[in-house]
Amino acid sequence: MATYMPRRNALIWLLFALYIPAGAGILPSAVADVTVVLDFRGPNSVATTKEMQREASQILGASGVHLSFATRQQAAASDFSDLVVMTFRGNCKAEPPMPRYDETGPYAVTWTTDGRVLPFGEVDCPRVLQSARSAMWGGDLARSEMFYGRALGRVVAHELVHMLTRSGDHARNGVQREALSARDLTGASLTLSKEDLNRLKAFYTPR
Ligand SMILES: [Zn+2]
Repeated sequence: MATYMPRRNALIWLLFALYIPAGAGILPSAVADVTVVLDFRGPNSVATTKEMQREASQILGASGVHLSFATRQQAAASDFSDLVVMTFRGNCKAEPPMPRYDETGPYAVTWTTDGRVLPFGEVDCPRVLQSARSAMWGGDLARSEMFYGRALGRVVAHELVHMLTRSGDHARNGVQREALSARDLTGASLTLSKEDLNRLKAFYTPR
């Protein structure tokens, strides 16, 4: 999943009006706090979004990276230094996702330009929810908001690893594998591999 996109027109992202200095490190040394700006372009659910934040925070937290979350408005009004932006396309609500003809696209992408990983990712909500839904049955359906949030959190964590390590590399195990199944998205636990933990830790020096 989570195709590492080749060069695309990055200028569109300037519309965010967020000041991210060119060449600025996402994780300056000795600082492991990252603010994730959540930019929903379609319907979303509070419960699903909370679960997504909790899941992504838990996965990245194992490496010492602390995530906080902000809306576009909050980010524009504040002076955050370490921002990444996740845009969510389509319907992110915990309701039966609309049928889709194209089920082969990636769950999400992280943008790059000239081989440089940018702090911008984009999640295809219907794609993620549709996959998660396929692994749910019986009593799971009554907890769909939790499962959708968990799935989205794992997809977000995957993209954040690309951004924070500034690399399109994938792992053989864990959340950073190139392809994640529906069960990977909804199962009890999906963590960073040991290699990914070390890669993330290499990008900052703990106090
Ligand atoms: Zn990936």
